[in-house]
Amino acid sequence: MKANVFQESSGKPITLDAVSRVWGETVAVDAVSIDIPAGSFTALLGPSGCGKSTTLRMIAGLENVSSGKILIGGEDVTARPSSKRDLSMVFQSYALFPHLSVAENIIFGLKVRRVGSADRDERLKKVADLLGLSQLLDRKPGQLSGGQQQRVALGRAIIGEKPICLMDEPLSNLDAKLRHEMRVEIRALQQQLGFTMVYVTHDQVEAITMADQVVLLNKGRLEQVASPRDLYEKPANPFAARFIGTPPMNLFPANAFKKLSTAPDFQLGVRPEAMHAQEGGPLRAEIRTVEYLGADILADCAVAETSFQVRLPTGKSVTPGDRIELGFAPDALHVFDADTGGRRDDLVSEFGALLHS
Ligand code: ADP
Repeated sequence: MKANVFQESSGKPITLDAVSRVWGETVAVDAVSIDIPAGSFTALLGPSGCGKSTTLRMIAGLENVSSGKILIGGEDVTARPSSKRDLSMVFQSYALFPHLSVAENIIFGLKVRRVGSADRDERLKKVADLLGLSQLLDRKPGQLSGGQQQRVALGRAIIGEKPICLMDEPLSNLDAKLRHEMRVEIRALQQQLGFTMVYVTHDQVEAITMADQVVLLNKGRLEQVASPRDLYEKPANPFAARFIGTPPMNLFPANAFKKLSTAPDFQLGVRPEAMHAQEGGPLRAEIRTVEYLGADILADCAVAETSFQVRLPTGKSVTPGDRIELGFAPDALHVFDADTGGRRDDLVSEFGALLHS
């Protein structure tokens, strides 16, 4: 990406204050409150149907809220139409006009807003430079690759120099390699231009690699708002623990461990990559199946009724039916209240000491 010749637009903060959206019996978004700092990259993450798009569309002003307030730059915009919210959007379907050239697609919004042609041309040149589209300005969208079309959609969004950009699964139509490239590009572009980004994705890798802040939603409710690192290292509840990380965190009833026969009120979590074979270790399990992954081995194991996974080095010879003893570092343990699901950091060292005694 080229050096920044584009005028930096400083981002505006966004606040959702107990925002809900209800359709008949469906509570798509349930009293969600989020602070999105100015100039941050915030990902709205969660499984299909959890309310991500609805939340984004309410911020955009494309969907009414049923209750609650939305503030942009400290101003209540809840009743404002989309055109008065000073933001741009990029959708999953790039929604390019097929009969217009790349250049015409990019400047379309400026024309609608009657920006003068000299100003338009100058901004077009900068955006095309920034996105590597300079050689393609006369082509029609049908003559572009998927990645190039995606760049045109990005160009159209950033040429308006809006303080906020909203994106809804913008990379879903691209193949894996291109997705990775575009992730890096979009993140760099956002940091360079400084606008506030709200980015919808169901892909946890996309969210944790791109965002400053991840908003994890489930069934219309907030599960956790945290930095990617905190989400991985300190998931607030079992849902967050299993949504982030591949394969997901293992969760055990406390009595799955040899030394914890009586602690039914807690669920204990250990990530597959945090476990290792250890003679006399606190977990004695049976290996069910073994998957060779090249860099390591993923073994499906079972202890009593609970199945779980562990990553082992390829040098370790393991066969289905083997019994194996496993251990982990004391700080790799996560403790959750079995009733409320709440994280109990206060108990980690106590459980850790018991397990490793
Ligand atoms: P996500 O983007 O996380 O996949 P959505 O925000 O699209 O989820 O949808 C959240 C819930 O709201 C879903 O149960 C969906 O079926 C419902 N929903 C979305 N739009 C409408 C609508 N226009 N009318 C009725 N229900 C809707």
